[in-house]
Amino acid sequence: MRAEGRPLIFNLHHFALDDGPGIRTTVFMKGCPLSCAWCHNPESVSPEPEIAFYGHLCIGCGSCMDVCPEGAVSMRPGRDRITRERCTACGTCSNECPSTALRTVGAYYQVDTLVERLLKERIFYDTSGGGVTFSGGEPAIFMDYVGTVMKRLKAEGIHVAIQTSGMFNLQEFGRKLLPYIDLIFFDLKLIDSDMHRKFTGRGNNLILENFRYLADNSPVPVVPRIPLIPGITATGENLSGLADFLRYSGFTSATLLPYNPGAISKAAALGKALHPTLPNRMIPAGEEEALTTFFRQRLSGHAKEAPLSEDIGAVEYLKQSKKHKEVFSDECLEHPCCSPHPGIGRGGLLIVPLHACNRSLRRDCSRNIS
Ligand code: SF4
Ligand code: SF4
Repeated sequence: MRAEGRPLIFNLHHFALDDGPGIRTTVFMKGCPLSCAWCHNPESVSPEPEIAFYGHLCIGCGSCMDVCPEGAVSMRPGRDRITRERCTACGTCSNECPSTALRTVGAYYQVDTLVERLLKERIFYDTSGGGVTFSGGEPAIFMDYVGTVMKRLKAEGIHVAIQTSGMFNLQEFGRKLLPYIDLIFFDLKLIDSDMHRKFTGRGNNLILENFRYLADNSPVPVVPRIPLIPGITATGENLSGLADFLRYSGFTSATLLPYNPGAISKAAALGKALHPTLPNRMIPAGEEEALTTFFRQRLSGHAKEAPLSEDIGAVEYLKQSKKHKEVFSDECLEHPCCSPHPGIGRGGLLIVPLHACNRSLRRDCSRNIS
């Protein structure tokens, strides 16, 4: 188990090009106050160490079963190697595994060790205008540790960025982290607080309050980011609401993050499952472009209505999802109860965004979303 005050890191991503300006090292912290149903980094949600099992790498040697002190390993073909309820994540099996099929996720770095590792790449930061980005999980739940590392990096003249869910204590953030940050990537997911609670485990009031405060008062740039999750965040209703919120907060741009289906297999390796309707493929380029165009127009105050394309997209994802049949029946998608719902029934095509179904349609549908 994790010792108190010892936050874990699950990845040091070297030479990152997408996490801020220039070439960067991204520090992925383990632990998050949210548990998003689509989390692109499912290994980041728990602050505790975990064991990942990649079945395609296993050579069947049985070493893991021999060494496990808890009897938590079994060799059942096609099943998770680990009985998760018994596993204490001691790491004995992953140390013994000759093929890296078993891996311990999460390691503690002393502050000195981490700073030293990060500074080894300063030549790349200096020559590219890059630096270090803290991500997760949620780095702002480890204010003392992260603040200490940031302060050391700032003293060395390194550019520091943070990617945050916005779920943090603002006073503490302002005192312990903000003085050492050059750039804030602030994630916004769902504008409706009930929806936010349903799909992330927490309402969004604190997040929106923190965002508004930093939008008005931050001495460094704040870049809003919105993940495009088919049928959940990537709906006309949600993108309209978020665009309006941003526009009223004085923003004229935001980053839309593409959906990453790779999270499904990452979660499976940890014995977890993401939301059953998430598709196993990326959003097609045309759909993503339509979403982006609509969002930008709405952000600039020029689009009043959600376009047809992204709502249709949500249905297509549901239809194509392998899990679709477990969640919806055909009747569910075609039942006339859908059509009066604003923004759902269009052009003879009945469209069921997840939230709409859950709120008002489930009594009439033959199968429901859990
Ligand atoms: S991490 Fe430890 S307890 Fe868990 S399966 Fe491996 S050896 Fe057993
Ligand atoms: S030790 Fe690794 S390779 Fe050997 S059976 Fe266990 S998971 Fe497979």
